[in-house]
Amino acid sequence: MLLAILLSATAMTLIVGIRYLIVSGAFAFATRVRHPGLYRGLDTQMRREIVWSVASAAIYGIPAGVIAWGWQNHGWTRVYTDVHAYPLWYLPVSVFAYLFAHDSWFYWTHRWMHRPKPFRVAHAVHHASRPPTAWAAMAFHPIEALTGAVVIPLLVFAIPIHVGALGLVLTVMTVMGVTNHMGWEVFPRFMWSGPLGGWLITASHHQRHHEHYGCNYGLYFRIWDRLCGTDKGLGDFARAHARAARVAGRADGGDRAAGNDADRRGAGRAA
Ligand SMILES: [Zn+2]
Ligand SMILES: [Zn+2]
Repeated sequence: MLLAILLSATAMTLIVGIRYLIVSGAFAFATRVRHPGLYRGLDTQMRREIVWSVASAAIYGIPAGVIAWGWQNHGWTRVYTDVHAYPLWYLPVSVFAYLFAHDSWFYWTHRWMHRPKPFRVAHAVHHASRPPTAWAAMAFHPIEALTGAVVIPLLVFAIPIHVGALGLVLTVMTVMGVTNHMGWEVFPRFMWSGPLGGWLITASHHQRHHEHYGCNYGLYFRIWDRLCGTDKGLGDFARAHARAARVAGRADGGDRAAGNDADRRGAGRAA
């Protein structure tokens, strides 16, 4: 039995890790195509992002693997496979309930992690990405990874969900985690500006969090940020592009001193 649990935990860690590498890799590749040079000079940072993310994969994978084993063998959780076990309208409702619950948990734990001590101990790892890249999706200190890893494993015991709907929730979670850090908008305009965009979080919203820190704490929705007055609107990617251009200028033998000076000013503002 112990071996079966161990195998399930290992398998889930591999699934989470490989899923991260594929999705982040795909969006990093898309970045090279759409915005060549945007990640120029960030190789060391990206390597660091990958190392933290792979470690996070184990922290996410182990509890998920244990619960998947319990689900298969002992009927743990309220995950169901018969699509008619609940009315069909419940499918989208359950997806929204999971996303909203996850978003609420994320908003409040994230705000807490911006208090000086938890920030220094844990959350600074995530904010060391300046600017973040598609690889930063799971670049978290283990303490922060743990706060994220417990959400879905707890929700599956509380809120019934079809296994396919849960798959959709996990897909949304992965794709938004990556694209929010990518440094450009992959989604159509209506998703981030206009009436719908006023409530959804995409890269332009989270970019501002990474530049200004004390605002825009949410994950999927702007509901909590707007309710609590922490929504500071959308950011832009000008600074990330300016940084890339500066690095390119230096590589071409440009004005090195001016570039470094601008770097220092940028870092001072961000901190
Ligand atoms: Zn933060
Ligand atoms: Zn972030």
